Amino acid sequence: MKITDILNNNITVSCELFPPKAGVPLEGAKNVIREIADLKPSFMSVTYGAGGSTRGNTVEIANEIQNVNGVAALAHLTCIGSDATEIGAVLDELKSKNITNVLALRGDVPAEGCATGDYAYANELTEAILRHGDFCVGGACYPEGHPESPSLQADIDSLKRKVDAGCAFLTTQMFFDNHVLYNFMFRLLKSGVDVPVIAGIMPVINAKQIARICSISGTVLPPRFRAIVDRFADNPAAMNQAGIAYATEQIIDLIANGVNHIHIYTMNKPDIAGRIMRNLSEILK
Ligand code: FAD
Repeated sequence: MKITDILNNNITVSCELFPPKAGVPLEGAKNVIREIADLKPSFMSVTYGAGGSTRGNTVEIANEIQNVNGVAALAHLTCIGSDATEIGAVLDELKSKNITNVLALRGDVPAEGCATGDYAYANELTEAILRHGDFCVGGACYPEGHPESPSLQADIDSLKRKVDAGCAFLTTQMFFDNHVLYNFMFRLLKSGVDVPVIAGIMPVINAKQIARICSISGTVLPPRFRAIVDRFADNPAAMNQAGIAYATEQIIDLIANGVNHIHIYTMNKPDIAGRIMRNLSEILK
């Protein structure tokens, strides 16, 4: 089923997984998929290693999600450092497994730099995917602006290019202050970007995650969230509980304000996704 059809449902909650590194047996990942599929998410996405470390496994994991566990799969695909032939081969593999939902991404530029490949930006990859076949293509968006963008408006102009190229939905980078998302969505509408936006929620359950999150995404931590980290960082069980409560509250506030599509960055932890889903059980009925 196409993600755009799934997003016609009133409220959706989907989950993201990452694949195991090349050479690591898939058995552990299969258990994680089964446990998350048992939570009945609207769809499950699987990331793609732009650096090459997990590339091969993305198609396998998407196949396991959709064709073994019966949940619609969204396969991520990056273009940085790849040529059209490589990208075409991945798309053919996906097609052969009837996986037609793809999140088109550029990928991060490695610190040491790399050849850009045949497609410089996600809008070019989106066009290439749609030329290749009947895919439903989504893209990434950044409520606080992509770190490389000179301004928020320049970033929205890029998003518009992506949507004009055929991106039918957008999934957000994680954020911890819902007002940032509301403000972003207002600016999107003002710029004529009106595809569904799926809000990406990262449950932060240990203090180590925080420095990494801020360094990769430039995400601002609101004072209410920082207070939780300051108070509970040294108490893993308390941090875990507080992180799940914070993510749950964020989701409830989003849904209450009409943001109906939520994507949980599960970090391959079914118990965390499960606790959040259980906290929302009546809301999702
Ligand atoms: P683009 O949309 O191409 O944008 C990149 C930058 O270039 C932005 O600053 C944009 O404003 C600018 N830009 C865009 N188009 C143009 C243009 N035509 N001319 C000039 N400037 C332009 N990374 C992975 O490696 N694997 C994954 O599976 C993965 N999944 C992700 C999922 C989500 C939901 C998100 C939010 C990010 C994900 N990423 C993943 C990270 C992503 O690859 C990086 O954030 C990357 O730096 C940007 O990718 P993009 O597709 O948003 O790029």
